[in-house]
Amino acid sequence: MTEEASSYQRLREHLADLGMTAAAEQLAIELDRGIAEQTSATQILERLLEHEVIETKARRTRGRLRFAHYPVHKILADFDFDFQPSLDRAQIAELSTLRFVDERRNVLLLGPPGVGKTHLAIALGIAATEAGYRTYFTSAVDLAHALQSAQLEGTAQYKLRTYVSPSLLVIDELGYLPLNQDAANWIFQVVSRRYEKGSIILTSNRGFADWGQVFADQVVAGAIIDRLLHHATVLNIRGKSYRMRHHPTTKTGGDAIIR
Ligand code: ADP
Ligand code: MG
Repeated sequence: MTEEASSYQRLREHLADLGMTAAAEQLAIELDRGIAEQTSATQILERLLEHEVIETKARRTRGRLRFAHYPVHKILADFDFDFQPSLDRAQIAELSTLRFVDERRNVLLLGPPGVGKTHLAIALGIAATEAGYRTYFTSAVDLAHALQSAQLEGTAQYKLRTYVSPSLLVIDELGYLPLNQDAANWIFQVVSRRYEKGSIILTSNRGFADWGQVFADQVVAGAIIDRLLHHATVLNIRGKSYRMRHHPTTKTGGDAIIR
């Protein structure tokens, strides 16, 4: 083996041993390209490391997305604002800058079924995940159930970290199913521990006036609303269901009212 060839082999091994597998695989390509284009050693190294950096970032994003376990992939670009004129585009554009995550503000998406609450919540959550924030998606009922069963196993404090530590927690579908007092208390625990520490995006088909019923307790409901609303953007979507858009009856109305 020539000295150059063994030097190449060792360099490839160094990269692999350092865990820079993408760069190791790209090495021959970048060297050939450097020779063909007569570029400097600096440029070859720069391109090689850039390749590794891009791959590493993509891998971390995939890891964060797996951890967050969004039920479906939604993006803001697929949202048809013309269909939902009650939504303020400028407000969504502001949210899409993700400043609300840095400022630990909450986003409350309220409205009847099918108006795009979950779509927007997931799209903002995925955007934050891709921007490097740790996020987590759960339904309100799943959150309460997970904490209730963790408590039975004596691991509730540990389980709470799942909901408290991410920069952004998405809580979907509050109000579809009634919660008992124990479940309501767990939601209160999560909301109060995240208060001014991390953002929550919450979707609900029920207006605040109904939350006493949802939580089976006016006092707990009031305490949750208080903390959620202190620093929050509230989006009331008063529109037709996107799911029913081709359904003949929607032509005659379908503008549901959120109390
Ligand atoms: P909600 O959570 O308010 O009940 P979803 O967000 O689940 O409603 O929306 C129902 C379905 O319709 C989803 O597949 C969603 O992606 C789609 N959808 C809702 N609103 C829009 C919209 N304005 N533009 C594009 N797709 C929409
Ligand atoms: Mg929904």
